Amino acid sequence: MSVERAAEILASAAQGVALTGAGISAESGIPTFRGEGGLWTQYDPVKVATIERFREDPRAYWTVARERGPAVLSAEPNPGHLALAGLEQSGHLVAVVTQNTDGLHQDAGSDRVIELHGSGRTVQCLDCGTRESRRDVQGRLEFQMPPRCRICGGMFLKPTVVLFGEPMPVDAVEEALALARRADVMLVVGTSLVVYPAADIPVVASRAGAAIIIVNAEPTPMDGLAAVVIHGRAGEVLPELAYRALMSGGG
Ligand code: NAD
Ligand code: ZN
Repeated sequence: MSVERAAEILASAAQGVALTGAGISAESGIPTFRGEGGLWTQYDPVKVATIERFREDPRAYWTVARERGPAVLSAEPNPGHLALAGLEQSGHLVAVVTQNTDGLHQDAGSDRVIELHGSGRTVQCLDCGTRESRRDVQGRLEFQMPPRCRICGGMFLKPTVVLFGEPMPVDAVEEALALARRADVMLVVGTSLVVYPAADIPVVASRAGAAIIIVNAEPTPMDGLAAVVIHGRAGEVLPELAYRALMSGGG
């Protein structure tokens, strides 16, 4: 059984690292970008999610964000997030590297979370740099579009996420690569592994000798790299995997 094999591998980890993508939050009610029911079947990312487009027309960005915001802001961690937090506490994982911007790993209790694409919980004014919570900005979208900066009145309030065309946060990428080089096991969950440099991280880990475990609803381009591939839902597979790893000891 592949879950059993994956649990044995994880049980032996001393420097285990998880790499997660949108799929781990799907069961919390946050739609993924790609795959069935993915957001990009509804929106054209080039129209709404590039920095050029945001600067041209923040209203178009916030029109999508106004619709999508409530589901993200009210989402709660699911058993998949909780299992990863448990595996960190038991010493089987040292960190979670995530492409997600929803903050659910932190809510679940994961301590060391590296956010490759920033956080959607904060919004920043591109003119004066003032930050405020996404929740507060969301609250005024009903009567102010696009939302304005409370301090300077600027029109370019941008969530602190990495849009297409923006650089990735250098510190986060370096930390993720350093973790990958040291990892003995990498648990990859809910990512289509087509967005770079995130998709490179399992390759770096594998070259450095880590065993790769992939848990995803559908095949990924990196399945050939993995010691074990489990096709299933993160919220169902991860609790079982964590339980079995704990029962096999280690950590
Ligand atoms: P993606 O949308 O490209 O891929 C998601 C993958 O998860 C797919 O391969 C899909 O088959 C799989 N999946 C769907 N439901 C699953 C489940 N219940 N269990 C396990 N796997 C499941 O996501 P990505 O690879 O993270 O890359 C896309 C970008 O989308 C990232 O840059 C990320 O910042 C952004 N994003 C973030 C969120 C979020 O913060 N929750 C949501 C959507 C997109
Ligand atoms: Zn401002």
